[in-house]
Amino acid sequence: MVQDYLEASMPTVAIIGAGPVGALAAIYFAQSNYAVHLYELRSDPRLPENQLKNFSKSINLALSDRGIEGLKGADKEFARKIMSDVIPMHGRMIHDGKGKQESQLYDIHGRHINAVDRGWLNEELLTKAESFPNVHVHFKHKLLRCDWDSNTYHFRNTATNEEVSIKADLLVGADGAHSVVRNQMMRRIPISFSQHYIDSTWCELTIPPVFPTFSASLSTSLQTQTPPAPNFALNPNRLHIWPRQTFMLIALPNTDRSFTCTLFMPQAMFDALTTPAELLTFFEKEFPDAVGYIGKDRLVHEFFRNPKEPLVSIKASTHVLPGRAVILGDAAHAMVPFYGQGMNAGFEDVRILHEHLRANPGDIPTALAAYDKERVKDAHAICDLALHNYEEMRAGVNSRAYLLRKKTEEWFYANVPALGIRTLYTMVSFDPAVPYSAALRHAELQGTWFKWVGALVSVGVVGALITTARVVARMMGWIDRVDRYGPMGPGRVWRMGVEYTYQSLPPASFYSRPLTCPAP
Ligand code: FAD
Repeated sequence: MVQDYLEASMPTVAIIGAGPVGALAAIYFAQSNYAVHLYELRSDPRLPENQLKNFSKSINLALSDRGIEGLKGADKEFARKIMSDVIPMHGRMIHDGKGKQESQLYDIHGRHINAVDRGWLNEELLTKAESFPNVHVHFKHKLLRCDWDSNTYHFRNTATNEEVSIKADLLVGADGAHSVVRNQMMRRIPISFSQHYIDSTWCELTIPPVFPTFSASLSTSLQTQTPPAPNFALNPNRLHIWPRQTFMLIALPNTDRSFTCTLFMPQAMFDALTTPAELLTFFEKEFPDAVGYIGKDRLVHEFFRNPKEPLVSIKASTHVLPGRAVILGDAAHAMVPFYGQGMNAGFEDVRILHEHLRANPGDIPTALAAYDKERVKDAHAICDLALHNYEEMRAGVNSRAYLLRKKTEEWFYANVPALGIRTLYTMVSFDPAVPYSAALRHAELQGTWFKWVGALVSVGVVGALITTARVVARMMGWIDRVDRYGPMGPGRVWRMGVEYTYQSLPPASFYSRPLTCPAP
């Protein structure tokens, strides 16, 4: 049966995928007076039986300014509510091989990223979307195919096993990295597409909260009659990183005072750890302090139980099917998670798409074309930046060159803002006004300038050192010196610290003689 929503008085949008990006898109379209139909192949994640099922997704993630701007664009009050339940992370905490910790702030002005529970955020977005009377959420509906000629979209209702079809003015694909909408668009128009799996797999582990010791908790309980609150095992206002060149462990805080750790490692290294003893030996060598925080039993249990997921980076040359459809979020630009931008970029997609829809009222084709023109290059830029940050996080953060450049950029940013020098991280994470592609270009240009200035400074320093060395050596008489006009008068010559006296200057041949040559 084809549901013909086109007959309704408002334009109809069918959104595929009720992940964070699809749910946010539903809120935006609802506010723009569309009849919104949100289709999701899974069942409602808010149902109690689904609470622990979402294993293929990260448990918590970093929400930064682009994502927050996307939330605010939907509803400022709603954004405020979300932000009241996040944990600010002001910088990285680098853990070395001996467990020593070193803090690196993200921003000299104190701006920060925020740890948020992914499932909770998704549920809040869904609840908010459902609060609009013009939003209809259809769980357990899997998009099968699109008939682009008649704008008809076909689903399998997995609860009843029926096939259902609908018509809509606009189709929005927010159906994740393995998007069916994208595949269906590619059957209709030529889309250059690249998909790159990196040699790293991820697995989640937990650092539990720390409970006060028995004596402390007993005395607290006696005084206050309330059970003692648990603490964070580590500084909760940092994103903790254990960088180890070809692999790394990271940890983000949760509101229940635990941390979710993610181990990123080549699959071959995961495969090599087959027994608890091998795992513990590996962890005690590479992440000795983390073993203490996680606990040996929990580490073994979670490592062998939790799935090991691959990481993919996806680019598509266009994100729209002219006039009919658009892909957003991971469906358009799945990226490796090392800039913490996947969801943030998806939220930004939604905000920018709506800027174009508002700028072209009643003209979906023009709005889609303008969106595509603006957004594709930014999507490609952030996919590249995310790959680049993988190198930086697992190896670069420890390197002197990285720290020197960071400190230099920060110094200029703080003291000579007119020069426009800024760190790439600041532009990407804290400045939604700077598109990703502009941030990338700015950083490349800045890098070139730094190289040139560095080269000039190096040449200057080397020149100054040589001159100083020559002056010192001459003063000390370590090299030839001829005082033609100096206070010592003509006729006194030093060779390798030995003084010779002449009635007049020595002949030029004197200088070409071997040093062992006796004085003339
Ligand atoms: P998804 O979350 O994949 O949602 C797609 C939805 O579509 C799903 O619910 C799916 O069931 C549904 N669907 C799929 N196919 C169909 C179909 N045929 N019919 C109907 N429904 C369908 N991002 C950040 O911003 N910050 C971070 O710190 C961060 N950390 C990360 C850490 C890890 C380890 C990983 C893997 C990712 C991280 N990300 C982070 C990325 C972030 O998780 C994704 O970018 C984000 O979830 C994308 O949201 P989405 O709604 O586009 O897609």
